Amino acid sequence: MITDEVRKKIRAIVGPQNALESDLERFSYSYDSSFVPLLPANKPEIVVRPLTVEEVSQLMAVAYQHEIPVTPRGAASGRTGGSVPLQGGISLCLDRMTRIVELDEKNMTVTAEAGVRTIDLYNHCATRGLFYPPDPASWKFSTIGGNVAENAGGMRAVKYGVTSDYVMGLEVVLADGTVLETGGKAVKNVTGYDLKRLFTGSEGTLGVITRALLRLIPMPKRRGTLRIAFGSLDDGCATVHRMLQAGIVPAAAEIMDRVSIEAVARYSRMEIDPAVEACLIVEIDGEDEAALETQTKRIEAVAKECGSREFLAARSEKESDELWAVRRGLSSAVAALAPNRLGEDISVPRDAFPEVVRRIRAISEKYRLPIAVYGHAGDGNLHPSVLCDLANPEEAKRVHQAVDEIFAAALAVGGTLSGEHGIGITKRPYIAQALGEAGLRTLKAVKKALDPKGILNPGKIW
Ligand SMILES: Cc1cc2nc3c(=O)[nH]c(=O)nc-3n(C[C@H](O)[C@H](O)[C@H](O)COP(=O)(O)OP(=O)(O)OC[C@H]3O[C@@H](n4cnc5c(N)ncnc54)[C@H](O)[C@@H]3O)c2cc1C
Repeated sequence: MITDEVRKKIRAIVGPQNALESDLERFSYSYDSSFVPLLPANKPEIVVRPLTVEEVSQLMAVAYQHEIPVTPRGAASGRTGGSVPLQGGISLCLDRMTRIVELDEKNMTVTAEAGVRTIDLYNHCATRGLFYPPDPASWKFSTIGGNVAENAGGMRAVKYGVTSDYVMGLEVVLADGTVLETGGKAVKNVTGYDLKRLFTGSEGTLGVITRALLRLIPMPKRRGTLRIAFGSLDDGCATVHRMLQAGIVPAAAEIMDRVSIEAVARYSRMEIDPAVEACLIVEIDGEDEAALETQTKRIEAVAKECGSREFLAARSEKESDELWAVRRGLSSAVAALAPNRLGEDISVPRDAFPEVVRRIRAISEKYRLPIAVYGHAGDGNLHPSVLCDLANPEEAKRVHQAVDEIFAAALAVGGTLSGEHGIGITKRPYIAQALGEAGLRTLKAVKKALDPKGILNPGKIW
């Protein structure tokens, strides 16, 4: 329970207008973009929106002294309930910390506060010919702090990697309010443990990220998009493997199964060939048109060898946008198919992609639930979406059994519970199975060392 005295201290730190206390305001911070049900118990007692690292530090010092739970929050686009304040307390929203502090063109780095939107950072760097590659589909609203805290990935991960591949340094406020600066602009740095990696993907459970120093690379000069249709998902996956084995690394390679294609077709009133069972959308990039032409020809040859039925190369930016619109609209199109959609995020070794999809098909039949499968075929990260009606208790039971089996299938083929969305609340029950006893004990020891009073995002991960 936050006392009146503590409330006064909090208001004094951020100003009363940035300490939200009405019932309605607090309700708005009790959920995120996951399927964690809305519960009155998840309402924070107070929402605070600091502007500076000093304010965050003072707030954490107060929270530490009074042992108040603190749930850091960016844009709440998380899919696993990470920013839901399970134990009330303070919802610490970083959305006012939106300064891009420095773009260092010589060192090719950018320093940004936690609340900067991913797309704003991308656009800012792009004006100087510099490229920040991590591009979660949520980039129009997600924040850099949230991306670092979840180690977000995106469609371009196959060639360019994920957020952690670009984090060179972090400013983090620790549980007791201490401000830690870790990493820096030196490209090589093995001085002590790699703390920036530890905080990246820590889901707000180890510290509050207030600023990130991020690596940039030169912006590719040309981009092209290809759409390839197949008579089977195996043929689509085989194309991705053979491309990579032949040294053709696309910037993105997104795959959709038949259920997903039908969803898009229905949504956008498109005709689809009944024999098409899978579709690949590939992005290529390079220095000039000749480089794109060479890659296109090589990919077309590989796809043909693997039995492709249709090959379409965008000839203009408009055509390219149209092809990508299909993939970008997929999440909404699939969601429109049923009252509820439970979207998961498993990651498997690339060669296990067809096998895990076969297992998901079997689960779909066993539990009589349609499951759309799409994802980043280039890096083995798939998003099976269970389409269902959770208002029906009998169906809800089947859904949970199906989800359990999807996770078991991912682990059985050597994969993991999450490729990019994190563990949060929704995957907590499976973490011991994924990490093993020693893994879990090590994680808990780290947590204990950094957050001895357990005030940072309690109830998450395990
Ligand atoms: C339509 C849609 C598409 C998506 N596509 C992708 C995708 O392609 N790839 C992908 O990786 N994810 C995707 N996501 C998930 C989500 O957008 C990412 O996890 C994103 O990184 C979350 O950012 P956020 O600012 O919304 O963070 P929030 O959801 O607010 O928080 C996420 C977690 O990070 C913690 N956190 C937030 N800010 C901080 C901070 N400053 N310091 C410490 N901890 C913090 C929170 O406590 C929470 O645990 C998608 C989500 C949606 C809704």
